[in-house]
Amino acid sequence: MDIKQGFIETVGNTPLIRLNSFSEETGCEILGKAEFLNPGGSVKDRAALFIIEDAERKGLLKPGGTIVEGTAGNTGIGLAHICNAKGYKCLIVIPETQSQEKIDILTLLGAEVRKVPAVPYSDPNNYVKLSGRLAEEMDNAIWANQFDNLANRMAHYQTTGPEIWSQTDGKIDVWVTATGTGGTYAGVSMFLKAKNPDIKCIVADPMGSGLYSYVKTGEISPIGNSITEGIGNSRITKNMEGAPMDDAIQVHDQEAIRVLYQLLQKDGLFMGGSVGINVAAAVALAKEMGPGHTLVTVLCDSGQRYQSRLYDRNWLASQGLSPD
Ligand code: PMP
Repeated sequence: MDIKQGFIETVGNTPLIRLNSFSEETGCEILGKAEFLNPGGSVKDRAALFIIEDAERKGLLKPGGTIVEGTAGNTGIGLAHICNAKGYKCLIVIPETQSQEKIDILTLLGAEVRKVPAVPYSDPNNYVKLSGRLAEEMDNAIWANQFDNLANRMAHYQTTGPEIWSQTDGKIDVWVTATGTGGTYAGVSMFLKAKNPDIKCIVADPMGSGLYSYVKTGEISPIGNSITEGIGNSRITKNMEGAPMDDAIQVHDQEAIRVLYQLLQKDGLFMGGSVGINVAAAVALAKEMGPGHTLVTVLCDSGQRYQSRLYDRNWLASQGLSPD
């Protein structure tokens, strides 16, 4: 018999998918880790599970307790699923700019959702800082603190990294992905570098994020902005501290959108916005490196979470973007 004992045992062990149209176009193997197939629908299920189980082990999270988090959505969704499966309560603080689909799922899962104005990290009312204060004020509550809680990158060091290594038999030239908290990028980079220091670990950055300039010049100086959700940062989180960053690549939204529609129409993959940035970065690197290389990136979540935006031509046009 092969039976998973509930939601929690179903997190991780996702397939690695060859992105055929892009691989054929570039003569490289462009591979996507299918994190959208996690039971909560995104790469963040892994971090949510590790954060909760780490707090349980440390005795910080007690029966009937509440998990509080500031999140662009996917971590909140992962936490809310696991809270239901383990009998905890969940309070999510989310910037009001995030897609309605994510807010609806959180509400459906029974999380208490507080929508707040999207203000920068330097503002005391920033969603991340507010969630930390709320957790402190409540009884029997913990703050998941995904940006600076190292249980996040540990999830990827212990699971995503080893899965990618064994799924490719260690034959990888490049690992490239965008970062939100940096947990996925850092955990996988640290694992792969320890296995083979020749693997290039490259940050993909949307416009409006500061990591590209950080890697290139040592200064965090974001320019422009992006419609992608869940990625981009204007600080080095604890999860990113010490992570190998061999290089960085900046991707414009228009290129990410073009890639998303190619994934949909030629590969049959209906993906979220950050996947557009990730795959566009992998394709650009493959073209630069020439045929014969293997590049791995992340398929973070599905397009369903963004149907009313990225897959609506009128909405795209309102942002000055087009699928073609
Ligand atoms: N893509 C999406 C859609 C996300 O929600 C997130 C997490 N915020 C990421 C990518 C980045 O993952 P990480 O936090 O591990 O850097």
